[in-house]
Amino acid sequence: MRVTTRIRRFIFQRRLRKNKIPLKLWHQSIAQMPLLLRYSGREKMQLRLLASEVLWEKAIIPVKGFELTDEMRVVIATQVAVLLFGLAEPETDPNLNWIHNWNQILVYPTAFHNGRKTVFNAQGLLQSLAGLESGETQYQGGIIIDWADDQPHPLRKHANQVLLHEMAHKLDMLDGDTNGHPPLHSNMSHQAWFEAFETSFETLNRQLQQGKLTAFNPYAATNPAEFFAVSTEYFFEAPQVLKRLFPKVYHQLTLFYRQDPLLRVRSLSKR
Ligand SMILES: [Zn+2]
Repeated sequence: MRVTTRIRRFIFQRRLRKNKIPLKLWHQSIAQMPLLLRYSGREKMQLRLLASEVLWEKAIIPVKGFELTDEMRVVIATQVAVLLFGLAEPETDPNLNWIHNWNQILVYPTAFHNGRKTVFNAQGLLQSLAGLESGETQYQGGIIIDWADDQPHPLRKHANQVLLHEMAHKLDMLDGDTNGHPPLHSNMSHQAWFEAFETSFETLNRQLQQGKLTAFNPYAATNPAEFFAVSTEYFFEAPQVLKRLFPKVYHQLTLFYRQDPLLRVRSLSKR
């Protein structure tokens, strides 16, 4: 191991020991989070380290007179950690490179006005929509969420994970384009990714045009970037729905997030 790597690791481990989320606060916070049920005790400890690092590195700022409790901060940092879990290596080096393109999360108490205009691009796909929102991501800048929407809830078939949605946009932006294609791992195929996402996006749009009821959030049909962000919400909250409707997308997301929520649920139910 290179000396610089060893020094970096030493500094990180020391900082982490000092800043680890206190155990009691950690348990109180995650007791409210059904998203965490599928992780083993050891994995939860890794999530705790990762969430501690997120709290150290990123600012979580309440706005509009909202007040955040320590538990709410831990819940938000842990949601970030769930998404990063397979991407990072929490025991040796958290590698928060995957979230280097944002520094803060602004937390509104309830839905907010985005102050934007409705804009369509040259292909007629919606690029931005004026109105009330629960979350927002800007190319440069942080993430905005509203707590009413982001707070933990029982897992539902109609997934709703506003912070995971906005973080997916940030991952998507890492390679410069917001097109539903984040930087893929070296063992993944760009062709397989595009094939899975494009056909599923088209299928959803066709179903909606035919007036069919769909079990998937129709907002995903807005454009490929939204399809990826909404798929990420389903992947973590309603993996069985995503796998049934768009199995190829589900498979690509297991490769990308390096987690398989369905396998974890199955092994959980066997116990
Ligand atoms: Zn979005």
